Amino acid sequence: MQTITIIPQVGIPDHLIGEVKSKLAYVDEAIIKAQIDESGREIKLELRHPMEETSLKHLEEKVQQVVSTMTQGAIQPKIQVLEDNMAVLTPYCNDPTEELIQQCELHGETAGVFTLGPMLTRLIEFFEENFITLAASFEAKPYRFPTLIPARYLERVNYFRAFPHSLTFATHLREDLDAIDHFAQHAACDESGHLNQPPESFAKIQTLLSPAVCYHLYFSLADKPLPGGKMVATAVGNCFRYEAINLTSLERLWNFTMREIIFIGDKDFVLENREISRQRMARAFKDIGLAYRVETANDPFFIGEFRKQAAFQSAFQLKYEIRARLPFKESTLAVGSYNYHQDFFGRHLNITLPDGSPVHTGCTAFGLERMAYAFLCQYGTDFKQWPDVVREYVYG
Ligand code: AMP
Ligand code: ZN
Repeated sequence: MQTITIIPQVGIPDHLIGEVKSKLAYVDEAIIKAQIDESGREIKLELRHPMEETSLKHLEEKVQQVVSTMTQGAIQPKIQVLEDNMAVLTPYCNDPTEELIQQCELHGETAGVFTLGPMLTRLIEFFEENFITLAASFEAKPYRFPTLIPARYLERVNYFRAFPHSLTFATHLREDLDAIDHFAQHAACDESGHLNQPPESFAKIQTLLSPAVCYHLYFSLADKPLPGGKMVATAVGNCFRYEAINLTSLERLWNFTMREIIFIGDKDFVLENREISRQRMARAFKDIGLAYRVETANDPFFIGEFRKQAAFQSAFQLKYEIRARLPFKESTLAVGSYNYHQDFFGRHLNITLPDGSPVHTGCTAFGLERMAYAFLCQYGTDFKQWPDVVREYVYG
């Protein structure tokens, strides 16, 4: 192992330290830990193995490039807080992860991939019941979407450009008897769990693991007028976002589940319903006793797209995040979001309103594992400490 310090040519402003840090995870496979000091003037990287001088120089260039691309000309977004319930008193102040592992409630399969036990499952069902009630209040139509998504779909909505770093690809063995035979005879995993097979054995990539739920609905409506000019739908699904060394505990998963309520129609219809869903959830979160706030936010766009897209999202208030308090580290975690995509999907996928103009879309999205994790960070694993509504649902 080797630790190196890099002094960025441009200082990293406070509001970008977290964003830049999360992107350092993708700079080089050798990086196993990245830290930026509070002043934004020093980057420390832990490397898997010592590196030669030329490789180190190249690594430093890549780091400098990340910092300058993300920070030069960046304007600090004005964060607007729409709800502040951070002062709700909650009894617990630790990270429940170790306890959950000991209680066999949590089992890590590989980085960012976990199985959940009966208590966590019931807890997620409790939150799901709240979200399904919210969906029912809009008479949302239920949908089921596949886990795979065609590469062509994501290409059509510029996903490759915006979020290349977090993609997960699906493939299979080529339809070739020699390749399949070779695999059957020789496939084995090394100590790190990597398959020893040559890339030529695998077919070209046509599908990926889906990074979001609502995309599937937009694609099913593509290239035609939207019947009736508006709709509300809901679905829950597996989502995949590869987050490299940022994959720690239940906070950040490679494979997670999301419940979405999706609004499609004209601008007013989407914005009004996004707002109504926020207000209805505010009441539900109050009953549950969650400490959180809702504030304007941006998506984690990749380096080249970050500055422009993040500024655009925040200027037009396209994303509000529900950020639950994590008392043990005095920070917050996004457990859900209220999104407005303007007519982005309507334009790119040619979905039209009765007057021929593109539809507007929006979605309310909840991360189910994060919801349960944030709750346990605030209330602990001892159900006697839990709010009555939650305890009664989970334990009857
Ligand atoms: P987004 O579409 O990025 O706003 O995601 C919606 C919700 O999904 C977030 O608020 C999180 O609760 C959850 N989520 C997103 N990425 C992850 C992840 N890597 N691990 C766990 N939950 C996630
Ligand atoms: Zn969505």
